Amino acid sequence: LRPIHIVGNWKMNQTMHEISEFFIEMTKMKMELKCKAWIAPQALHIAILKEMAFTTGSIQVGAQNCAEVDSGALTGETSPLALADMGVEFVIIGHSERRTIYGEKNELLNQKVLNALKNDLKVIYCVGETLAEREANDTFKVIEEQLNVGLHNLPADKAHLVLIAYEPVWAIGTGKVASAEQAEEVHAFIRGKLEHLKDETVILYGGSVKPDNIDSLLRKDNIDGALVGGASLKAKDFRQLCSIA
Ligand code: 13P
Repeated sequence: LRPIHIVGNWKMNQTMHEISEFFIEMTKMKMELKCKAWIAPQALHIAILKEMAFTTGSIQVGAQNCAEVDSGALTGETSPLALADMGVEFVIIGHSERRTIYGEKNELLNQKVLNALKNDLKVIYCVGETLAEREANDTFKVIEEQLNVGLHNLPADKAHLVLIAYEPVWAIGTGKVASAEQAEEVHAFIRGKLEHLKDETVILYGGSVKPDNIDSLLRKDNIDGALVGGASLKAKDFRQLCSIA
């Protein structure tokens, strides 16, 4: 029912040389991609990636963030209108690094989500608790708030463009993956809270996903793929993730 998605979030990494190597390697490997394979590079690299990804066939290219409005005096921001105009397929909104390092709050993220959807971009809306919140038993409360506010006023006719990523902050870049059971518990909770398209919405897990742990995560009913940082940077790992899925 729900297609498996493997989404590489390259964060602020990769040089032009590394990107070329990535696609040369991707093309050389004969492993079949068994899922939807998406990559979000730095904004600067989106255009070049779209060209390179074209040669490997089916990889879709997205952005890691966008502004809450289409245009204006916002030095350094990326316009969702410009992304859509460039043929960009999706945007990640509310990544925990945007929330914690850049102080983006649920209310602002809601504006970003609604505006990206207005431009017909697919949105990967990220939620997740910190270690302190998990230890205080606040995981569900925090995630419910992130969903209620971040997806407030979500138009029913755009709900098919929304994917959710559950990324426990304590599992990001730490090598500490959530157990498949821990992740499934939260994924099922998220699905229950969705207002539209409960059964159709793709819910990704993110946080230290590697070729050797993806399998047990994907066996769970409500885990429909992964948002992958470190292990998406090398073609060998990314291709392997996409062929296990
Ligand atoms: P890692 O896979 O490096 O833990 O990063 C996860 C992440 O933040 C993806 O968005």
